[in-house]
Amino acid sequence: MVTPAGNNEPNLVLLGGPGAGKGTQAEKLMEDRKIQHLATGDILRDEVDKGTELGLKAKKYMDEGELVPDELVVNMVEKRLTKQKGYLFDGFPRTIDQAKTLDELINLDLVAYIKIDKSEAVRRLAARRVCSECGKLYNTIFKPPETEGVCDECGGDLYQRDDDRPKVIRDRFETFLEETAPLIDFYREKGLLQEIDGEQEPEKVYREIKSVLQESTG
Ligand code: AMP
Repeated sequence: MVTPAGNNEPNLVLLGGPGAGKGTQAEKLMEDRKIQHLATGDILRDEVDKGTELGLKAKKYMDEGELVPDELVVNMVEKRLTKQKGYLFDGFPRTIDQAKTLDELINLDLVAYIKIDKSEAVRRLAARRVCSECGKLYNTIFKPPETEGVCDECGGDLYQRDDDRPKVIRDRFETFLEETAPLIDFYREKGLLQEIDGEQEPEKVYREIKSVLQESTG
């Protein structure tokens, strides 16, 4: 792995349950920094849409709010890591095994844990809409588009993700508690974890992420 000259961006994980606001915060960070967004959920949805072998395998887990098996996800991430600095991991790692593999591949600077309650997660996700063309995120309660069902940026149709139905949201939250929450202690013990209250205004959450990022990278 070769680090391109001048790339001094951090490697950062956004950790949090469904609806914590990882995607929203990732959008803001990318406006500010030359950081590469690696969102495993987005990559998997793209594979499902294209009907690839990986997409076909992943779909049945995603539809049930379960995790896609580690080896499939790790393999997919590994292929995309072409340098050593400047990654924003969003939705990855989600298990201890994924975290251990990531440790072998790259040095992390910070894990920002965005914390929210299950009831708030259900409320937010049921109102989430995504642009089918550019992927921009909306929320019918907090951040509606100017014209209902249409993306402000590109005019694409907005849709609701299949796994944003209340039953699946609850299953995803349980999966988070069982499989991903152990990462909180895992990264705390490594001295990498910073906890952020995800129920604050998105701008406030973002200011806190920027501030802990500043502290951890100097
Ligand atoms: P997300 O967009 O991050 O909420 O992910 C949507 C779905 O994709 C999850 O509910 C999982 O089924 C699957 N997924 C995304 N990232 C991972 C991962 N790191 N490990 C396993 N499954 C994942």
